Amino acid sequence: MTHVVTTACVDHKYQECVAVCPVEAFKEAETYLVIDPDECIDCGACVPECPVDAIFADTDMPDGEEHWLQRNEDESVDAEIATGESPVLAD
Ligand code: SF4
Repeated sequence: MTHVVTTACVDHKYQECVAVCPVEAFKEAETYLVIDPDECIDCGACVPECPVDAIFADTDMPDGEEHWLQRNEDESVDAEIATGESPVLAD
């Protein structure tokens, strides 16, 4: 299992999630974050922190968002670890 960042993060890139993650699971895409499924320990701590409700367990993906599971997995491979210090694009 893993948690997954979905469409709502795109062009927002709030990063409260990064601060509460106990491992280095969040990675930087250009306009959003992704979660590395090899790092995520499924603690769920990030879910309530997201102001746009972008994060879901892979077992509870909303309709139409399922493709983000593969995107998070693929795009996290070569991405930098998120530090929480990138610009928030919604501002
Ligand atoms: Fe990090 Fe836990 Fe969220 Fe996984 S579920 S990304 S380990 S805070």
